[in-house]
Amino acid sequence: MICRLLALIAFALAPAVHAAASTSAFDQRVAAIRAEIMVDPARALTDAEKLRAAPHDGATQGHELATADWLRAEALLSQQKPGQALAIIHSALDNLRGAPGDFAIKGELILARAGAATAQGRVQDALQDNQIAYRLFVRAGDARGQAKALLVIGTLYSDAGDYATALRYFDQSIEAYSSDTALRLSAVNNRANALSQLRRFPEAVAAYEKALTYVRGTPNESLILRNLARAQAEAARFEPARTSLDRAFALSSPGVASGDLPALYGVAAFIAFHQHRLDEAETWISRALQQAIATDPETQRDLHHTAYDIFRARGDNSKALAELEAFRKLDDEQKAVAASATAALMNARFNFTNQELRINNLRNQQAATEARFRFRMLLGLFSAVAVVSTLLLIGFLSIRRSRNQVRAANATLRTTNVALEKALAAKTEFLATTSHEIRTPLNGILGMTQVILAGRQLDPTLRSRIELVHGAGETMKALVDDILDVAKMETGELRIQTGEMDLKRLLEDAVTVWTGQAETKRIGIEFDLDHCPGKIVADEVRLRQIIFNLMSNAIKFTDRGQVRLAAFAETDDETGAERLVVRVADSGIGIPADRLEEIFESFRQVDGGVTRRHGGTGLGLAICRSLARAMGGDVAVDSTLGTGSTFTLALPLERVAAEAAIADRQAATSLGTAELLMIEPNPLGQGIMRALLTGECAGIQFVTDISSALEALQAGTIDHVIAEGSALGLDPAAAGELAAACGAAHARFTLLLREPGAELIGEFAAHGVAHVVSKPISAPDLLSEMNRVYGNPVDCRTIAA
Ligand code: ADP
Repeated sequence: MICRLLALIAFALAPAVHAAASTSAFDQRVAAIRAEIMVDPARALTDAEKLRAAPHDGATQGHELATADWLRAEALLSQQKPGQALAIIHSALDNLRGAPGDFAIKGELILARAGAATAQGRVQDALQDNQIAYRLFVRAGDARGQAKALLVIGTLYSDAGDYATALRYFDQSIEAYSSDTALRLSAVNNRANALSQLRRFPEAVAAYEKALTYVRGTPNESLILRNLARAQAEAARFEPARTSLDRAFALSSPGVASGDLPALYGVAAFIAFHQHRLDEAETWISRALQQAIATDPETQRDLHHTAYDIFRARGDNSKALAELEAFRKLDDEQKAVAASATAALMNARFNFTNQELRINNLRNQQAATEARFRFRMLLGLFSAVAVVSTLLLIGFLSIRRSRNQVRAANATLRTTNVALEKALAAKTEFLATTSHEIRTPLNGILGMTQVILAGRQLDPTLRSRIELVHGAGETMKALVDDILDVAKMETGELRIQTGEMDLKRLLEDAVTVWTGQAETKRIGIEFDLDHCPGKIVADEVRLRQIIFNLMSNAIKFTDRGQVRLAAFAETDDETGAERLVVRVADSGIGIPADRLEEIFESFRQVDGGVTRRHGGTGLGLAICRSLARAMGGDVAVDSTLGTGSTFTLALPLERVAAEAAIADRQAATSLGTAELLMIEPNPLGQGIMRALLTGECAGIQFVTDISSALEALQAGTIDHVIAEGSALGLDPAAAGELAAACGAAHARFTLLLREPGAELIGEFAAHGVAHVVSKPISAPDLLSEMNRVYGNPVDCRTIAA
C-alpha cells in the first residue's frame, strides 16, 4: 500500500538543467515546454516541434536542436510512446556525434533513452543508459542530473525487489544534490518505501516525516501521510498512525485521485485490525475492497492480505481463503516481474562483483524454488477448497487443516530463506576473519625468514631451504590476500580509494618486475607506453593489483614468443569521455571460446592439469574484474586457442592537470636558469642568501616552513629547493618527504646542515636526501656546491628514492 510517487518522480525528472540560468528567449521557451510536459504532453510535443523548426543561431544551433529533440522525446514518453521517442533520441544523438562538450544535453538524451527502455521493459538497457547519463552529468558538473540518474537507478532496483541496493542509490541521489525539493522528495519518499520493504519501519517513519516537510500544502501531502500512517502502524505506533491517517482523510476529498481512497481505507483497516477492533477493521476493509479495482496492483495485493488477516481472525474461513487466493495471484505476478527485472539487472553486470551476482543467482534459484513450492501449495489449496465445499456439509475441519498447511509451508519457506542468508553471511564472515587472522602470523614468518636470509654467514643448503619456506609463505600470503578480497567483495566492503598517481611509472615497474621471470622462461617482454597518460587520479594499489595479475597470467601461460604491455587513452565517441586502456597480450596457450567468460568467475580455471602445473587458484581474474567494475570500468578478453590471449582493462580516465604540466616541464639545466625556493625562517638568513644568490639564478623566493614549500612545489615552477636543516627540525623523515616531492616535481634539492657528522649525513641519505652541504661554508664554495648538482641531468627517482 506504499505510494510510489511516480507522478512526483516524473515531475522531478522534468529537467531543469538550463532553467536556473536561463534568460534567453530560447531558454524561456524550453522552461515553458518542460512545465507543459507535466500537464499537457500533446501540446508540449507540438510546441517542441515548433521550437525545433524555428530559426536557430549558428553558434548554438547544435545545442538548440538537440534540446528541442529532447523535449519532443520527453513529451512522447509522457504519452507512453517510447518507440517514437527513441527514433528522435537516436537521430539527436547522431547529430551530436563528434560535437565536443555539451555533456548536459547528451546526458538528458541518454536519460530519456533510459526512460524509453524502462517503458519497454528493457531493464538492462535502462540501467546501462542511466549509468552513461550519470557519467555525462559528472562531466558536465551537473549535480542535479547526477541525482536524477541515481534516483532512477534506485527505482530500477526497487522494481527488481533489491531494496538494499535501491536504498544505496537513493542515499547517493540525496547526497548528490539537495536543492531541488521535488527531486529530493522523490528520493526521500522512495528511500522510505525501500526501508518499509526491508521492514526497517522506525527508519521509514523518520524518512516519511522528512518527506512530509517538503509537501505541506500540496496535493501530495495526503499520499505521504498515508505512507507514514502505514509505516507507523507497522512499527506498532498506532496512535500517531491514526493521527496521520486522519490528516490524510481530511486532505483527501478535494485533491486526491479516487484511487487513493481505498488505500486509505486499507490503512485504516490495518490499524484497526492490529488494535483488535475487528468490527471496525471489517467495515474499513469491505469498503476498500469495493473500490479496490481503482488502485494499482501493489495496493490491491496489500488490501487482500489485510482482508485475509481480518477474515481469518473473525473465523470466516471461506472469505479468508478467497482473499488469500487473490493475494497469492497478485503476489506471484509481482514476484515474476521482479524476478525478470532482477535477472536483467544481473545481466547488465553493473557495478557488481561476480560474487554478488552469484549470491543473487542463489537468491533467484531460491525464489524459483519458493515459487514452485508455492505453486504446489496453491494446487493443494485448490484441492482443499474443493474438499472444503464438499465437506462444508460436515464441518470446517478440513479448511482449518489446509490453512494450517499453508501457514506451516510459509513458515518453512521463511525459515529456509533466513537460514540461507545466514549461511552465506556466516561463510563470508568466516572467510574474512580466518584470512585476516592467518595474515598476522604469516607476516611474522615471512619477516623472520627475510631476516635469516639477510645473514651473510648462512650455510648454502640452509639458505636454499629457507628460500623455499619464504617462497611458499609468499604464495600463501597472496592466496590469503585474494580470499580476503573475495570476502570483501561479497560483503560489499571493497572500497576504491583514489589519489594522484604516476601511471607510467607503475607500468614501467610492472615490466621491470616481470622481466626476470620472462627471461627465465626465454620469452620477451615488449611495451608501448609512448601514448600512456602520466599522472592520473586512480586507486594505485588496486590498479597495480589488476595489472600485475594480468602480467603474471600472461607470463605463466606463455612458453614461447612474447608478452606485450601497452597503455593509451581513447575518447568515447558517444559521451566524449576519456578512457584509459591497458592491454596485456601474450602468445601463449590461449583460451577456448566457450570458456572466455567463465574464467572471470571465482575458482574457475580452464584446465586443471595445465594450471596445476602453473599454480594459481582461479581467483585472480574474478578479483580483477570486480575491481575494474568498482572503478567504473571492466576487464575483457580476446583469445585464440594455441595462438595467444589479449586482456584489455578499460577505465574512466581522470588526468591530473597540474601534475601533467609538471611532467611535461623541462628541468633547468644550470643554476643560472633555475627558479630557487629556500626554506629559511630567519629574516637575517634570508637577507644573506638573497644577497648571495641574486644574479646567480633566474629568481629566488623564500618560505618559512616545509608545508609552504610543498605547496609552492605544486605549482610546478620551482627548479631547485634549498632547505636550512634547522628549519626542518633536523628531521630526516621530513627532509625525505621534501626530497620526494622535489623529485616528483622535477626539482633539485639541497639540504644545508651545520657541521653534520658522517652518521647524520648517512641518516638523511637513507631517507633519500642525496645532496647535503655542510656549513659553515664560504659564498663561492656554496655557489659551486649548488652548481655541482646541475652536472648531471636531474633524475627525480634517484633523488627521491
Ligand atoms: P589463476 O591464474 O590463479 O588460476 P585467474 O583467475 O587469474 O586464476 O585465471 C583463471 C584461469 O584463466 C587460469 O587458470 C587460466 O586457465 C585462464 N587464464 C588466465 N589468463 C590466461 C592467459 N593469459 N592465457 C591463457 N589462459 C589464461
